[in-house]
Amino acid sequence: MTFKVPKQFTTVGVGRLLKEWKEEDFAASLWTTEIPLAVAGFNYGRFKKKEVTDSETKYAIEGYATSEVPDYLRGFPGNLTPSRLTENAMVEAQNSVRLFTQYFGEAPYGRLAITQQPQFNFGQSWPTLVYLPLSAFLDSTQRWMLMGGDAFRFTEFIQEVTPHEVAHQWWGHMVGWASYHDQWLSEGFADFSAGLYLLWTESKPDKYLKYWERARKAILDKNEFGLAANDAGPLWMGLRLNTRRTGGAYNRLVYPKGGYILHMLRSMMYEAQTKDQNFVVMMHDFVKTYYNQSVSTEDFKRMVEKHITPNMNVDGNGSMDWFFDEWVYGTEVPSYAFNYSLSDDGDKTVLKFTVEQSGVSPRFKMLIPIYLEFDGKPFQMGRVFLVGNLKSKEFQTRLPKRPKRVLINAEHDILASQVSVNGK
Ligand SMILES: [Zn+2]
Repeated sequence: MTFKVPKQFTTVGVGRLLKEWKEEDFAASLWTTEIPLAVAGFNYGRFKKKEVTDSETKYAIEGYATSEVPDYLRGFPGNLTPSRLTENAMVEAQNSVRLFTQYFGEAPYGRLAITQQPQFNFGQSWPTLVYLPLSAFLDSTQRWMLMGGDAFRFTEFIQEVTPHEVAHQWWGHMVGWASYHDQWLSEGFADFSAGLYLLWTESKPDKYLKYWERARKAILDKNEFGLAANDAGPLWMGLRLNTRRTGGAYNRLVYPKGGYILHMLRSMMYEAQTKDQNFVVMMHDFVKTYYNQSVSTEDFKRMVEKHITPNMNVDGNGSMDWFFDEWVYGTEVPSYAFNYSLSDDGDKTVLKFTVEQSGVSPRFKMLIPIYLEFDGKPFQMGRVFLVGNLKSKEFQTRLPKRPKRVLINAEHDILASQVSVNGK
């Protein structure tokens, strides 16, 4: 692909830059790729370029930003120089590439250009090229000056936009989607990836947990017609979820509920000994198997069934129909009541507990994780399997040490309407 732009501008294309030259008042550049790319985009502007090569993935991370803001922001007080913050965005991109390479497998492109675009709150991803909103190149004080109270909510968008867009190198570009029904495999998986990024890059779990709580509210909070996005229908309906009474349901469902579905699978596949290994193996296989193809929801379901763990095999037939029927093709959302007590028995502690599932149809099945918290970080003790609106029998177990508290759903493992612990 050849580009010719006025000579003061720099073009950033997809693939690899083969050569650049001047033609009178124009800057010309030629871009090529040895790897098939499903889509091609470009960006151009009066950019300053920075570049690093990641020692781990060997990925070249390039950053492009302007030293001045667009006309619509001129005259604002303060020193708004987007290119000053290019390195922040590049570090986020670099960490994202490292993390997603571990979880999903290597990306073949070898290069990623993080570029500023003039829109304030819109990001987009092309193979090897990401548009980040201008706001991602401003610091929190500057955003505060421009936006006032909205800046706080917006800060959350900013911390998620880079990993979300970088994740599209895998979800959308390496693995495409077959039809509008399957777009959650791109947007939902990118949202899941942004959550994973918060889990691994933040020293405390707060941001990660708040991220899933916000996703939960986006899915379940009611609008002015008394309808939640989740009431619009199964996320498999994709863009058709948007109606006059459920405007925005596509964004509020396909992204966060799509993310939740992968998050719930990851939680069910987690094991204390091997951590995320079951999940990681499945995701690597998924990317490898469907590289450069468009996948359907059923393709992904078959991949989950290929990697099904014994505890997920609740029907004993190797099928994940139960899970996909509930979460992908259905709209049910359960609530849970957890009651427990701890008592001393010599040098041991006896834990007794029950879990109740409600608000669902008689055949609704779920694995509910129970967590123990000793000092700070909760860890998964086990899972309770429930079908329908049912209170479990009382479980009793002896623990070597008294936990500070016992929890269920501590990592937002299940998309739930309500979760109560000992009545609270
Ligand atoms: Zn996206």
